[in-house]
Amino acid sequence: MDFELTPEQRQVRAVAREFAQAELGDKIAPYDERHEFPHEIVQKLGPLGFLGVLVPEEYGGAALDYVSYALIVEELCRGDASVGITMWAHNSLCTNHIASFASPEQKAKYLPALATGRGLGAWGLTEPGSGSDAAALRTRAELKQGEWILNGSKAFITNASVASTTVVMARTESDPKAKGVSAFILDKGVPGFTVGKPYRKLGLHASNTAELIFEDARVPQTALMGARGAGFAQSMKVLEGGRIAMAAMGVGIAQAAIDQAVKYMKQRSAFGRTLAEFNGLQGMVADLATEVEVARLLTLRAATLKDAGQPASHAAAMAKVFASETAMKAATKAVQIHGGAGYITEFPVERIFRDAKLTEIGEGTSEIQRMVIAREILRLS
Ligand SMILES: Cc1cc2nc3c(=O)[nH]c(=O)nc-3n(C[C@H](O)[C@H](O)[C@H](O)COP(=O)(O)OP(=O)(O)OC[C@H]3O[C@@H](n4cnc5c(N)ncnc54)[C@H](O)[C@@H]3O)c2cc1C
Repeated sequence: MDFELTPEQRQVRAVAREFAQAELGDKIAPYDERHEFPHEIVQKLGPLGFLGVLVPEEYGGAALDYVSYALIVEELCRGDASVGITMWAHNSLCTNHIASFASPEQKAKYLPALATGRGLGAWGLTEPGSGSDAAALRTRAELKQGEWILNGSKAFITNASVASTTVVMARTESDPKAKGVSAFILDKGVPGFTVGKPYRKLGLHASNTAELIFEDARVPQTALMGARGAGFAQSMKVLEGGRIAMAAMGVGIAQAAIDQAVKYMKQRSAFGRTLAEFNGLQGMVADLATEVEVARLLTLRAATLKDAGQPASHAAAMAKVFASETAMKAATKAVQIHGGAGYITEFPVERIFRDAKLTEIGEGTSEIQRMVIAREILRLS
């Protein structure tokens, strides 16, 4: 497999890095402290094409490949993971679900606004009673007098309060598991569809996460995306790409942790030398840098398979579990290298440490990724 980036991919990475250096990092700290969504910063992603990365040009998207996408997500999350997850949940989950499975009419209606940043997208699969076991979801959609009536709720949904468009999985068929689930596209303001108060989270304070509530929410028949009963299979395909994005998020967070550790090691002195001169700490940084490089290569490998149209779920699960655990490890070690300074909010590494944990939970926990990997190795269904 060739990991030499094309001139276009290098250019895209440079633009994302420049944006992250100029607009994220320290500038996000006040939003993180206030648990506030950075609307004005997220809006700047639109003109760069970063809100329509995977959308075809005919719908106003940038139509980039997955390798470019992974590079953008890595750089944004290196700058700030809250903005990073806002961007990739919009791209990978909501927008990509519509771009992959919606009718031409639905694509024409929703994609131009989503791809250019005139609207943001959210995607609801998880429920209060079902996360890893997503096929056990209970939100129902019933067809009555030409309208779908939705009842139920969704938990932990990224961009829930800030989205103009939300894709929602609901049970339409009598089958109690995967084959009973269909996908719907909902506009903000649909009667009976409300969003709960944003959660107070451990990390990613500048991202928006909230509950979706459906109380006799009425949508037209045209809100159904694809065939009845196809929603779960669609979601699994969407998650394959989502896991590549989450892996890239892990790489970006891990790299940010190393960046901060290196900076601190050069400025802090003890016993008459800078921390950078201590062998013990040098070894820590060397190991972390090696593991981040492995995580990056696994992520680019999964992205390359996806671009080639080959099955990528096994590679995406490997990349996701390794990159997320590398992010957590790098963040933990970076706090350690900072000593007491790593434990206070003045230093970015404290935020990076809190943000890293989500990568081991979202888009399928580490345990679920290992299950996906093992099933393929053991040839289990
Ligand atoms: C900040 C944030 C943003 C999110 N954004 C979204 C979003 O935009 N859209 C969306 O739909 N969801 C979203 N989620 C939900 C996320 O995908 C779920 O939290 C995740 O899939 C885990 O589900 P759960 O929380 O119900 O945990 P559970 O499924 O209850 O798992 C609890 C524990 O049991 C373990 N476990 C479960 N089953 C098995 C098994 N078979 N073998 C071994 N261990 C197992 C899990 O690994 C975990 O450790 C988000 C979550 C968070 C925290």
